[in-house]
Amino acid sequence: MPSHVITLANGITMPTLGQGTWFMGESSSSRKDEIAALQKGIDLGMTLIDTAEMYASGGAEKVTGEAIAGRRDKVFLVSKVLPGNASRKGTIAAFERSLKRLGTDYIDLYLLHWRGGYPLDETFDAMERLLDAGKIRAYGVSNFDLDDMQEASQYDRGHICVNQVLYNLASRGIEWDLLGWLRKRNVAVMAYSPLYQTRLLKSPGLKRMAEELSITPAQLALAWLLHQGTIPIPKSSSVKRVEENRKAWDIVLEPEILGKLDGIFPPPDHKMPLDVL
Ligand code: NDP
Repeated sequence: MPSHVITLANGITMPTLGQGTWFMGESSSSRKDEIAALQKGIDLGMTLIDTAEMYASGGAEKVTGEAIAGRRDKVFLVSKVLPGNASRKGTIAAFERSLKRLGTDYIDLYLLHWRGGYPLDETFDAMERLLDAGKIRAYGVSNFDLDDMQEASQYDRGHICVNQVLYNLASRGIEWDLLGWLRKRNVAVMAYSPLYQTRLLKSPGLKRMAEELSITPAQLALAWLLHQGTIPIPKSSSVKRVEENRKAWDIVLEPEILGKLDGIFPPPDHKMPLDVL
């Protein structure tokens, strides 16, 4: 059975299956459903919630704040600073704004959303200050390719715990070199868009395999990412689909199934640019 927790490089633990929040907080009509879905996920153990100042311009953080009110201690909260805010001072200011929207006084894991114009050492200095002040428990990056990671490792004092990247059965480019590099250095990989924003679920091959296993295509896609040792963060605003996604934790994929999946979704046979959304 896939493990439900992973220990990050700095010793703290994080759930291996989480919930995304992109596109939440955009409309008041879906707010109730979004909060109910996030709370159901927390009740089912998917206590890792991934959000960002970017999503709905802070709206997703506000929805998250509402969903975790009264249960903050159960949740592993991840948020991200926009590259345009990621200067030494700007990172701290953006962080404090996120805290307010989230209604908390700390964030478990704080990520640089993608690389921008500010030098990495400035951003990481700010992350270190937040770490020293106990306002974050770990920090990391997102959308960093191998070159970015190699450069980042010169400035992060070995403290980057996570790289959050696009990864799913239909987008396996990171297996060429990035995934191995990260594993070797104990940098955890969060797999964003694990269902390829539902595009993957339409694959006839995936549907066929899921049917064979008496599970849903979404469960198979998530179970495969868990098997790869990565941390998928599917987004759902539906209690029913959150319940469905949670069951991915109970699925064991035998080598024969993994082989068949490789046949349908081949691993990369050459270096590819990092896939992003
Ligand atoms: P996902 O691959 O998680 O797909 C989300 C879509 O899938 C939604 O439309 C959702 O609809 C649907 N869905 C969820 N579960 C099921 C299911 N069991 N069956 C059928 N449909 C389902 O895409 P995201 O891009 O949202 O990625 C996940 C998270 O990763 C984001 O929400 C965000 O937190 C993070 N992310 C980070 C990025 C970065 O740059 N760091 C970039 C992109 C995403 P419904 O809500 O109606 O269930």
